Amino acid sequence: MADGRELIYYDRGTPPTGRAVADLRPLDAVAPSSEVRQDPMTGAWVTVAAHRQARTYHPPADECPLCPSREGRLSEIPAGDYQVAVFENRFPSLAGEPGTHPVPPALDDPLHSRGPGIGRCEVVCFTADHDASFADLDEDRARLVLDAWTDRTAELSVLPGVRQVYCFENRGTEIGVTLAHPHGQVYALPFVPPRTAKMIDQAARHRAATGRNLFDDLVAAERASVGSLSTDSLSTDSLSAERPEDSRVVLAGEYWTAFVPFAARWPYEVHLFPNRRVPDFTGLNEDERAEFPRIYLDLLRRFDRLFGDGDRQVRAPYIAAWHQAPAGHEDELALHLELFTVRRTADKLKYLAGTESGMEAFMNDVAPEFAARRLREVGQAGAATPATASRPTPGTTDDTTDEEAQR
Ligand SMILES: [Zn+2]
Repeated sequence: MADGRELIYYDRGTPPTGRAVADLRPLDAVAPSSEVRQDPMTGAWVTVAAHRQARTYHPPADECPLCPSREGRLSEIPAGDYQVAVFENRFPSLAGEPGTHPVPPALDDPLHSRGPGIGRCEVVCFTADHDASFADLDEDRARLVLDAWTDRTAELSVLPGVRQVYCFENRGTEIGVTLAHPHGQVYALPFVPPRTAKMIDQAARHRAATGRNLFDDLVAAERASVGSLSTDSLSTDSLSAERPEDSRVVLAGEYWTAFVPFAARWPYEVHLFPNRRVPDFTGLNEDERAEFPRIYLDLLRRFDRLFGDGDRQVRAPYIAAWHQAPAGHEDELALHLELFTVRRTADKLKYLAGTESGMEAFMNDVAPEFAARRLREVGQAGAATPATASRPTPGTTDDTTDEEAQR
């Protein structure tokens, strides 16, 4: 790109033309400077990136920086068309050559551990179609995105200083998305983030107590709840024929399993694991890759059918967070997706307020088993109805909460 950033096109089949088109914009190189600081009370790393205040914020559709370039309107992507494109974020939270400034351990000053915010922040454009969503992609394209995630993971995870490669998608203005164009991001992190650090501890505890792997046991237990379900079945009928009330499994494929976690934090939260544990995208075999698009698109489309009434479908805002084993923890940690929405009903959002933001203690208004049932129901086209979408969950309190009052 004009300012020296890297841009990569991924194609399946015949690539669109225009790959060699140069970025002709008069862009100055940005010199991002960020810092990571460790919270001495919790050990969590915080990235301070003040330069990001200047980043593009809700541009009009005709100025979208992720659409292909056209005459008179040059975007981040010089080509006139593309399938999947990945480029370095112009306003990254983390930047610089990983490894050149490793995060120093706390030495003589245990209260103020800090280092430069080195790492990589990349943008993954899923399609050139500005108005599409991931759920609208065909299986071929979803597979191409998987391949792009895999390639980025392979490339970034070996950079010195990178501890974890995190692929994610934020979808919807309710999540805080500032660009409407369908895209995700890849962060090469110079530290192990708090949620992963907790999983490392829990996996070690489980290993010490049982001699087994935590994630193996987790997936096996959820799959066991659907009994003798035929392994290649994705139909909700066969699921509901077994234990409809208490199974949390949403989709059981031959190679992947999606379920609402036992202690779900969000109104609708689904974890998707390959049945065979692998540390990251690079560990998936061809069978697992081949089945992935069908499962993942099905899951996203179920989220899109959760809310709305008849003509007015309210697409669920969501975060799709791909957890991959950090460096040094490949033996115990498992690749998996944590997909969740902040939407509780067609007209209510879950806000993180006093308990969640203040104490990291989640209060979930939707029972996980109910959420799983809903997600199985909406697998049938047209199954979403306002009556079920907003039905109060048995066993929960009145849902006018502090969060509601504060809105
Ligand atoms: Zn666009």
